This record gives sequence, structure tokens and C-alpha cells, in this order.
Amino acid sequence: MNELGEPAYRLSQVWKWTAQGTSSYAEMTNLPQRLRDALTERVPFSTLTVEHEAHASDGTIKALLRTQDDRVLEAVLMRYHDGRRSLCVSSQSGCPLTCSFCATGRMKFGRNLTSWEILDQALHFRRIEQVDHCVFMGMGEPMMNLDNVLAACRRLPEIGITHRRTAISTVGWIPGIQQMTDDPMPLRLALSLHAADGALRSDLMPVNDRYPLPDVLRACEAFYERKRRMVFIEYVMLAGVNDSVGQARELASLLDPKIYKINLIPYNPTDAGLAGSSPRAIEAFRDELEARGLNATIRLTRGRDIAAACGQLAAGALSQQAAVAVGAGSS
Ligand code: SAH
Repeated sequence: MNELGEPAYRLSQVWKWTAQGTSSYAEMTNLPQRLRDALTERVPFSTLTVEHEAHASDGTIKALLRTQDDRVLEAVLMRYHDGRRSLCVSSQSGCPLTCSFCATGRMKFGRNLTSWEILDQALHFRRIEQVDHCVFMGMGEPMMNLDNVLAACRRLPEIGITHRRTAISTVGWIPGIQQMTDDPMPLRLALSLHAADGALRSDLMPVNDRYPLPDVLRACEAFYERKRRMVFIEYVMLAGVNDSVGQARELASLLDPKIYKINLIPYNPTDAGLAGSSPRAIEAFRDELEARGLNATIRLTRGRDIAAACGQLAAGALSQQAAVAVGAGSS
């Protein structure tokens, strides 16, 4: 706006239109025509371009997006029967961590996304329809890029997503949990736990060697003390690996039901050579947790037929393979 000799308030006019889902400068009717033309010519409307969009039979939409320097990332819109519209966004292109069951960890790490590249994912879907929830459960480890993630979160309410309806999910990156604890926004914290036993957890998630689970749980408890917001535990159910009733008991012994709520995630196929637990095993695991006073739910799987479900986000060849593995093709 400076370069164009425009007053500063033009910027908030543009943002207001954009946050409400407008798709081009041309539609911003309270800007002078010459300014709309100048912006169209000089300022790309988004930091991201859409490479491909896949629609699942359950209404889920996955967008494969590309940054200006040719990094790929994915973002997902999940539609629920109760009307909820939830976005799953990426914080990094690829992921430097190497969790054995996750497709993203197998793709080459690109880089941290900027706050605008994060917001532009939300805006992409806002142009399709109104959205009200956001989870940082796409590609990447949000806590390794937390400044940009938080900067994006600050603007999400203007798009329609309040802080209370925004969740940041982490492998247990302690400095990030601490920074989130100190931040004034009332965001939700989610922890990918996956195994109560240290050796098994390190096998599944090598980051456990750097930040062992007991220390991570202490950081989560400090978060709860400060924020009074329950921490969500994510636990992906792997047949014969972490899904026995004994392991449910072990998990329950670590978690205070006042602080934690558990989400059991049916494993979504990747090419990792692992198998998901049977529905019966998942229910038995849940029952054991509930018998010990914990609130446990089984996550509804969305978008599996387009490889958009948890842990399947890996742009390019990998996602094609994952889609073929579930027998659905990919587009
Ligand atoms: N790096 C952060 C943010 C990604 S969240 C984190 O790990 O929390 C993505 C969620 O999907 C995590 O809980 C992850 O453990 C889970 N996940 C990864 N691969 C999966 C798979 N194949 N099936 C089901 N869930 C998976």
C-alpha cells in the first residue's frame, strides 16, 4: 500500500474481504478500481497455488498446495454431520521427525511454512465455505515452527475460527509446550502419545529419546495448571504393537482423568508395514481406559479414500501409494 501511495486503512479493507472468503481483489468493491487493478497485477492473492484437490465420499476435501519456491504441502477440510467444518493444516512442508507409522515422516523435509502460508491454507477453504475449527495436525511438527504457527492463530478468529476451537498437536516438543503455556491465547493442546512404555515409544517415535514421555507429561500438566484446558491425547492403534489391554492399563496409570482426554485413532494405512488394530481391540482398549475413569473416544476416520486421513499426508508419489493401498485410487 505504501508503494502504491495508499493510506494504511486500505490494508485492513483488503484483509477484511479476504478473511470473509473473497477470491480476488476485483470483488473488493470498496476499493477504487485503479487500486484493484494495481493489486491484481502486482500482488499475488495467495502465497500458495492449488496443485490438486481431491474429494472423498464423506465430504472431506484435500488440497495439495505449492509454495512460491516449489515446496508442497497438504491441507484438509473435514465436514461433519453436526455441521462442524474443521480444517487440518500443515505447519511445515514435510517433517524432520521420523515417526515410523506416519507417511509425512518418510517424505523429504522441506522447510517451515511462513505464517501467511499457514493462513492461506485456511483461506483456501474459507473461500469454499464457512469454517469453525482448526487443528494443526497436517504435515509437520507445529512446535518446531511455533512462532509462525502462533502468528497464524492470532488471525484465525477473523476467518471464523476462535482460539478455543484451535488445537495444536505435538509429538511432545517440550520447549514448544512451554511457549504455548506462556502464550495468552486459549488454544487447545494435543499430545501424540502412542505408547506408555519408553522403549516402545522411542521405537515408534525417535523424538522420545530427546524428550522422554515423563518430562513431556510434566510440561502438559504445567499447561493445564496455567490454562485450565484439558489436554487431548492422541493414540494411534497398531495391532500387536500398542493395543493390548495391559498397555491400556499402563497408559491409564500415567494419566490423570482431570487433565487428559484420550482420542484413539484407527491406524490409516501407509507403506510402513504396520497393521491397524481390529475394531474389537480398539473397543476393549477404550473400555479399559474408561473403567479407570478416563474419558476415551474413538476418532472418526475421515478422507481415507483420498489418503487425507491422519498420517497419510505425503504429497506426491507417497500419497498415491497410500491411496492405492486402501484400494481406492487417489483422485
Ligand atoms: N507432528 C504433530 C502434528 C501432526 S498430527 C504430531 O505428531 O502430533 C498428526 C496425527 O496423526 C498425530 O497424532 C500422528 O501421530 C497421527 N498419525 C500419524 N500417522 C498416522 C497413521 N498412519 N494413522 C493414524 N494416525 C496417524
